[in-house]
Amino acid sequence: MTEDATFADPFERANLVLPGGVNSPVRAFGAVGGAPPFIESAHGCRMRDSEGNEWIDYISSWGAILFGHADEAIVEAVCDAARRGTGFGLPTEAEVEIAELVVDIVPSIEMIRWVSSGTEATMSAVRVARAATGRDKIVKFEGNYHGHADGFLVAAGSGAATFGEPNSPGVSRGATSDTLLARFNDLNSVAIALESDPCAAVIVEPIAGNMGLVPAERDFLFGLAELCIEHGALLIFDEVMSGFRVAAGGAQELYGITPDLTTLGKIIGGGLPAAAYGGRRELMEMVAPCGPVYQAGTLSGNPLAVAAGIATLERIVDSPDIYKTLDVRTGRIEAGLDKAIEALDAPLRVQRVGSMWTLFFTDCEVREFADAQAADLNAFSNFYRRAFGAGVLLPPSGFETAFVTLAHDDEAIDETITTLTTCLERTFA
Ligand code: PMP
Repeated sequence: MTEDATFADPFERANLVLPGGVNSPVRAFGAVGGAPPFIESAHGCRMRDSEGNEWIDYISSWGAILFGHADEAIVEAVCDAARRGTGFGLPTEAEVEIAELVVDIVPSIEMIRWVSSGTEATMSAVRVARAATGRDKIVKFEGNYHGHADGFLVAAGSGAATFGEPNSPGVSRGATSDTLLARFNDLNSVAIALESDPCAAVIVEPIAGNMGLVPAERDFLFGLAELCIEHGALLIFDEVMSGFRVAAGGAQELYGITPDLTTLGKIIGGGLPAAAYGGRRELMEMVAPCGPVYQAGTLSGNPLAVAAGIATLERIVDSPDIYKTLDVRTGRIEAGLDKAIEALDAPLRVQRVGSMWTLFFTDCEVREFADAQAADLNAFSNFYRRAFGAGVLLPPSGFETAFVTLAHDDEAIDETITTLTTCLERTFA
């Protein structure tokens, strides 16, 4: 592929029947310009479009792919399950098996409920927290994303801790009036929010991936846990992205913090639509039909998604070294880019936790949303298009995280470092 490869034209066709040509906004490549590729197939770490172009993929289905695309064991498990029926709407033993696996792997989870998307998981976890505390307000962080349920679609108003205003038309003021906003890695803003009103919960991405990769500082997370206890609010870790990604037991294992409730998605479904929320037994026993908190789903615990999830989680349990491997491989990308950045003396920095990383177009440490917003998005977009044209597929926005999988071998990583170094040199020439 050449650097100025033309973008695919199925996009025009798509735009006639799908809003913006896509089924999820970031896929439209709006932040980087041009049209998105229309994917035909992907194997390992390489993805192909319908015109025969190929990329080394770092979107990795937004983090859902851990072992690589079309992983044989997962494909086998899904096909096997499909032959026995694609959905029953009644319990299966496989659902119990995967629940037992998660309870064994994730430190804070004693009971779990399956849903089909991260959005449902976070929305339902908040419902449980409200029921358990008898309080309505929740605290969320600027730049954290928890899916598109109304109560999460809030924009900052003025002041250190603010009542959220809807940030999308169609979301009522009522729906966001119970959401307080605080600043990531800023305990003071959390204290102000928790003191302003009795709150049911604080929900946080313990390793934020939706403003680019921004790790929570250790003191911040421990302080958050303490503040929650002090104010009688529950702590919800949204580990839809970090769960099974940074460690088998997610960020809570990495930091050694036990949240009250946890949301999971992406890897838990082995690349199929599945997500879950779980936590302490007495909290989860509030969920219907065990308790009064209503939550349901026609396709929840779908046998294909559960089969893919089991195939994934069993491998995680059987091969604890995978996180070390991912860390070493992604560390090579970080080191390679750091070398290029040093040589260029350009305002760039790599932030990384394990296999999650972002190349920020700023030289200031990104600790919270405002820092990420200060990055040079024009330079990012310029660089992005070069990388895209040269066969490296990064997430098409400066506010996203790239994901390395176990299928990113040394050869792919070497190729990535060489390509991205050249693209940076040209961007800053
Ligand atoms: N929480 C987090 C941390 C996420 O990253 C996402 C999706 N990127 C969600 C929730 C929402 O998940 P879904 O897109 O499956 O609804």
